[in-house]
Formats: sequence, C-alpha cells, structure tokens
Amino acid sequence: MKLDINKQYSGFVIRQAAYIDEIQSEAYVMEHTYSGARLLYLGNNDDNKVFSISFRTPPYDDTGVAHILEHSVLCGSRKYRLKEPFVELVKGSMNTFLNAMTYPDKTMYPVASRNAKDFQNLMDVYLDAVFYPLIYENPYTLRQEGWHYNIEEPTDALSYNGVVYNEMKGVFSSADALLDYEAMKALFPDTPYSFESGGHPDAIPELTQEAFEHFHTTYYSPENS
Ligand SMILES: [Zn+2]
Repeated sequence: MKLDINKQYSGFVIRQAAYIDEIQSEAYVMEHTYSGARLLYLGNNDDNKVFSISFRTPPYDDTGVAHILEHSVLCGSRKYRLKEPFVELVKGSMNTFLNAMTYPDKTMYPVASRNAKDFQNLMDVYLDAVFYPLIYENPYTLRQEGWHYNIEEPTDALSYNGVVYNEMKGVFSSADALLDYEAMKALFPDTPYSFESGGHPDAIPELTQEAFEHFHTTYYSPENS
C-alpha cells in the first residue's frame, strides 16, 4: 500500500515518506490532524505486528514519577477496570511482546502479536491505559506502585514499601548504579538527565498524589506522543 504525501488517511496526514532499505520497510511520518499526535508507520512483510505509544517524559526531580506512572497506568483504566490488566494480558493474550519502559526522557508502551484481532485488542488496552488510567479516582495506585508507609508490629520502626520503591532500592544496591547516578548529576546539571527517571529511594517518598496526577496531565497527551 502506497500512501501519498499531504493526503489524509483516517484523520492522519502523511508528512514524510521514504523506503528504508536496511529494514525493507516503507516508512511514513504521519500527523493526526485533530490531536497533533505524530505516528511513524513502518509497512513491510513481517507478520509480527508491533505497536508502541511513547511520550516525552523528562523528569524534574528524583521521585521517579515517570517510572511510577509507567507502572500505574497499567493498573486499570476507564474501559478495563481490572486491578492488573497488564498481568492478565501477559497470561491470556497471544502477544509476542508486551512491556513498558521508562527512559531518562521518554516512556514507551510497546505491544506485538502475529494475530490481527489480538493485536487490535492489545492496542486498545494500552491506549485506554495511557490516556484514561484510574490513577485519579484510586489513590491506592500511587501507594501500591510508588510508596507507602509500612509497619508489621506496633513496636517496629516505620518503614517504606512500594513496588517501584523496592525495585529502585534493588537497583541502587549496586555500586555501578550509584556511580552512574552521580556521573549523570555531574555531567548534565540543570537538565532532565541529572535526575534519575526511575526514582532514587531517598526521593521516591517525596512524591505526592498532586505531582503524580500533574505529571500525567502534562505529558500523557496525543500531541506529546
Ligand atoms: Zn519498574
């Protein structure tokens, strides 16, 4: 299927077109007229269909808000009101790849399947998750995925717990991670790269529900995807 420059297809205008020899693909850069979303489409003979929605998510502190949000949007959405749609998809879908990743300046949500119907379903679950997560109505999502106070016995000391909090404590138990963290701070001061997008265990408990919601409202929009 050949698409023409500057023509509309399902609400998207073709901005650039090129054949990429190395991956034997027709590449199109499209723009969604209504929302401003940009789409890179690679058409080829591979029957393994892949989709990813990604957002520019530069961090402005070490609370790991980008990483916690990456976990949290996959904890139920407007259409899929389950506790963990992600876990259900891993078990029940014919996906060939399913994940989400936080980078120093972006967050990606890729899915893949060889089955067309399954592929459409995966896209639908992921798009509903990123644009309509239940994080606004369920404050326990931040506490579960980010951080919360923990105490087992009344005489115990108060401690922190949380999925990302524990994950990052594991990461920062390595000398390499600490060195990397300090090197980035020294090399790129006053930029998003001086912050740990995954979250530093000392800073994660500073994340508030307000800042968490604000980060989603700011960056999870079609025009920033
Ligand atoms: Zn994680």
